[in-house]
Formats: sequence, C-alpha cells, structure tokens
Amino acid sequence: MKSWINISTDSDFPIQNIPFGIFKTADNAPRVATIIGNQVIDLAALAELGYLNDIDFDHKVLENLYLNDFMALGKPITNAIRAAIQTIFNRDNTALQSNTDHQTQILKAVETVKLLMPVRVGDYTDFYSSRPHATNVGTMFRDPANALMPNWLHLPVGYHGRSSSIVVSGTPIHRPKGQQIPKDSKQPIFGPCRLLDFEVEMAFIVPKETGLGDNITTANAEDHIFGMVVFNDWSARDIQKWEYVPLGPFLGKSFGSSVSPWVVTLEALKPLVTKSPVQDPKVLPYLEFEGDKNYDVNLEVEIIPENGEGKVVSNSNYKYMYWNMCQQLAHHTVNGCNVKVGDMMASGTISGPEPHEYGSMLEISWAGKNSITMPDGSTRKFIQDGDTVVMRGFGSSDGVRIGFGEVRSKILPTK
Ligand code: CA
Repeated sequence: MKSWINISTDSDFPIQNIPFGIFKTADNAPRVATIIGNQVIDLAALAELGYLNDIDFDHKVLENLYLNDFMALGKPITNAIRAAIQTIFNRDNTALQSNTDHQTQILKAVETVKLLMPVRVGDYTDFYSSRPHATNVGTMFRDPANALMPNWLHLPVGYHGRSSSIVVSGTPIHRPKGQQIPKDSKQPIFGPCRLLDFEVEMAFIVPKETGLGDNITTANAEDHIFGMVVFNDWSARDIQKWEYVPLGPFLGKSFGSSVSPWVVTLEALKPLVTKSPVQDPKVLPYLEFEGDKNYDVNLEVEIIPENGEGKVVSNSNYKYMYWNMCQQLAHHTVNGCNVKVGDMMASGTISGPEPHEYGSMLEISWAGKNSITMPDGSTRKFIQDGDTVVMRGFGSSDGVRIGFGEVRSKILPTK
C-alpha cells in the first residue's frame, strides 16, 4: 500500500498508520483530522465533499474539539473510516488525486496548523507495569534483595491520577512548588521542586462506556482500546517523596502530564505486536490471556537545553511491559468500576534492563548519584528550567514505519 502523497522514508505517518487527532487553523474551528506524511487531512472537509458517503455516520462528530464523539461511533465505523481514507489516498485511486480544488480544501501542511489535545480525558489512571522500573525504584529506596513489593507480580499496580492537567505536546509546564523534606530533617520546607523529572510512558484511550458492575475481560479488552499516545508523566521527586505514604502520588504528579497529539489506533499497531513475557508466578484466572499482547515501539527521550544542542538520554521500548493493556483493563474493571469514553490509562514508566534504557532521570542519575553531560558541557541529574524534553515513539515491520510523532514540552520557572 502506497499513497499518492509524497512521504519521506523516516515519516511516522505512512498510509498504513492513519492516526486521529484534532487540529485548527486561523480560518477553521477545531476538527477531526488524520495525517499522511506531513499533510494533515481535514476529515470534516473530506466528508463534506462526499468522500465518506459510503459510511453511515453523523458527520457532526468531525467538527468537534475532541475525538470523544468520533471514538464513540464504535470500532466498526471508525475502522471503516480509516479503511476509506487508505483507499482515497492510495496511489491507484485518482478521485481526489486528480482534483486539486478538493485537495486545497482537504489537505493542510502540518506546519500551518495547530494540533490540539486529542481527547477530553475523563478519568486518568497510571499503572506501574515495567519490571525493570519497579525493580530500580525498589532497589534505590527499599531493599535490593526484595525490590518488588509482594503484590507486584500478582496484579498491575496503579493509582488514579489527575486528568485536568493532561496537556498536548507544545504546552509549557511550570516547575511546581510544594513541600519537601530535607535529608535528615523532620521539618518540611516549601519551595520550587528541585528534583523535576520525566517518565517515559505510553497511554491508551477508551472509546466505549461500560456500566457499573461490568467487567472487561482480557479476551475482549481490545474492543475497549481505541489507540495510544506517547505520555510524559512529569514527576516532582522531592514533593513525591514526602507526600506519597500511605496513599500514593498526589501533588508530585498532578501539576502536569504531556501527550503526543496523534492517537495511533490499535489496528495500526498490529504489525508491531511482539512476544509477551512469561509471567511467573502464574497469574489469577481473570488476568490470564491468550497470544502476544506486547508491542515493539521504540521510545526515545531527548533533553534540549535552552538555545542549546539536545542529547538523547534514553532509548527504551514499550515491549518491556510485564503487564499488558488487556490485563490492565481487566484488572481496572474486575471490581465493577465503570469506564467512560475518553478515559486515559498510562503504562507507568517504561524502562528496559540496560542503563541506556532507563525511562526517568531518577533511574538515569540513580537518585542523583550520577550526572549526565550535555553537548554544551553542562550537566544534568534532573530537569532544569528552560530545558525542553522531547519523547518520540516508533516501530517498524516489513519496512513500514508506524510512529507517534513526538511529545515536546518546555519547563518554565515556577509561576
Ligand atoms: Ca508514572
């Protein structure tokens, strides 16, 4: 499958991808879009000009500030729309290819539009599902011999996070302030966070509602996952350290999380499916699953100092998840908790076993013991004001690259 739109070989968005997002221009209110190469495709315009007439759905869902109503059409419809787009932009199809007037109305160069937050996030849950990450944190702060908590190998640990502060790539984040406990002191101090960190994660988005008391199973969980984004779970380590016992993360996390703008569908990710790890001890029956549910998505984190040259500080991979999305969703709903359209569930920091695969500065600096040297000679243990953190996700199969683009955020001083 090849498109008549020119695409560079390193593009995250070939015709095989067709992610969904929301964009606006100076002339247009927010609309649903997809992207091929660097051309944003206005789906409201595509529908208005009759190109989606074979699919029965209300075109109003395409003129929205968020993807929620679009996702709620259901996978049979959204997958049909995705397939129709692939047909329209296939190089063998001349209908739109030969109509330059329609192309002017439908196609926008990505640099001329503003990409917005793709979904209105209902509830947000963050899991803790990478074994190397949980092991590193347990080794640093508890006991290297018993790094994992006793529950960790039996259930996908998670906590409920804050959805109001989840923002799209390009939105700056102010350094949070809060209470911290100085080393060997019993008296907290108040001030700007000194140990500001990122966590490289991926998050999935729920496209359909379940009722109170309903359980999603590992077998049907994929019907309840629309697609994924790259997710940066900003973390204030000093605030987190003082506040988190006994009820878990709170203000050390809720000041901001950043997501990439394009939601890559689970269907587009199918070629990247890879072997799931053997789970030992054996999990309880409701967490058992069939087949492979992990995905080979490279995750790269770059720190770019203000007016400086960037450095890639982590090369991790989503395949390192111990608990997969189907297990996370089955566990999330096993007590009868209902989910809603737009709920976002993040993976937890994704670290690989090797130091260059660690997914947070906490691990890269080993709790501040080591520093990394930037190209300008400055050093980092955590993130400084003026730094921009960029995360990218991509994988490839049979020469076809499927990517997420990036989530890019600059840290501004405390407000
Ligand atoms: Ca996290």
